[in-house]
Amino acid sequence: MSDLPLDDMAFDTRCVRAGISPDPTTGAIVPPLYQTATYVLPEVGRDLGFDYTRSSNPTRQVMEHNLAALEGGAHCVAFSSGMSAVDSVLRLLSAGDHVVSSDDVYGGVSRLMNRILTRFGIEFTYVDSSNPTNVAEALRPNTKMIWLETPTNPLLKVTDLEAVSAIGKDAGIPVAVDSTFATPALLRPLEWGVDLVVQSTTKYLGGHNVIIGGAVITDSDEWAEGLRFVQKSVGAVPSPFDSWLTLMGMKTLHLRMARHSANGMIVAQWLEDHPKVARVSYPGLPSHPGHEVAKRQMSGFSGMISFELNGGIEAGRDLMNSVRLCALAESLGAVETMITHPATMTHAEVPAADRHARGLTDGLVRLSVGIEDPADIVADLEKALG
Ligand code: PLP
Repeated sequence: MSDLPLDDMAFDTRCVRAGISPDPTTGAIVPPLYQTATYVLPEVGRDLGFDYTRSSNPTRQVMEHNLAALEGGAHCVAFSSGMSAVDSVLRLLSAGDHVVSSDDVYGGVSRLMNRILTRFGIEFTYVDSSNPTNVAEALRPNTKMIWLETPTNPLLKVTDLEAVSAIGKDAGIPVAVDSTFATPALLRPLEWGVDLVVQSTTKYLGGHNVIIGGAVITDSDEWAEGLRFVQKSVGAVPSPFDSWLTLMGMKTLHLRMARHSANGMIVAQWLEDHPKVARVSYPGLPSHPGHEVAKRQMSGFSGMISFELNGGIEAGRDLMNSVRLCALAESLGAVETMITHPATMTHAEVPAADRHARGLTDGLVRLSVGIEDPADIVADLEKALG
């Protein structure tokens, strides 16, 4: 851990400095990349803090300390993907346990829940958590966790974390939130009473489309111990190099999120006025049903927008094939603007009726607004929309 006192550091300083000290042997300002699988023990029964990289690695540890400091949590446990971070949290449960989950979670998360974890006896009930009463009403005697995503992928629904955390506390069960779309630069769920924060570091935290990674942050020693046990037992750990790249990304998180948010607002407002766009979902717009909650709990609204095109599937396909600056890509949260049409891309295999039931309509487009000049992003969309 860095010897700089965290309490004196504002968020922006934490991004650049928290958890990072000059290398004690050379003074290198950038933490060294410990690309090693194992460590030589000085004698039987004694190590120098590390024995095997699946259990821990100095480069990964620096990244974990930095991210814990950004979320304001005592512990961070890193994983090899956002999905393995989600999976590891849910592995803290046992057969017969029940989870109340936000209904619009990332598709990979619902696939994990419905097609894998249910086979191991874990039960899930999906509710629209943007109304906290729905969460309270879905609790059962065997409910052992509340799983939230806010803002959600792809519909950008917003959940009031303070209200749902209070429901969890009353029931004596932990609340976990996938906060990938917000990042700690815009939302720190632990401050609102949440117990476990999940991040896909692949997205804004890494920020440059160069790694796949995930992390869980918590203040609870008990949950952290459980997660470290899963991390070591299952072995879904990020490589030292990926941990190092993630750390390099996190150093500029505050700057990038400010620009993503500023660009996101410009593009969302422009889309809202476009005649070919039926509806825009962006928590920063007063028209968004979760705007007031988002304004209270977030300090910016990020670069994630979804919007509905007039003209359904055809209009969506045309737009995807006409954009040039906006990259046709399934990921999000990086410096490049990326665009996706769920009906013909991420959810093409899902029967239309099931897609529609989830709110994934034919003309729905998801846009991850990057940090290019916003005039260029708008010009690209304007030309492509015709
Ligand atoms: N959570 C959210 C909200 C996501 O959008 C994603 C990926 O798109 C994940 C989790 C999974 O992350 P990864 O792709 O790093 O496994």
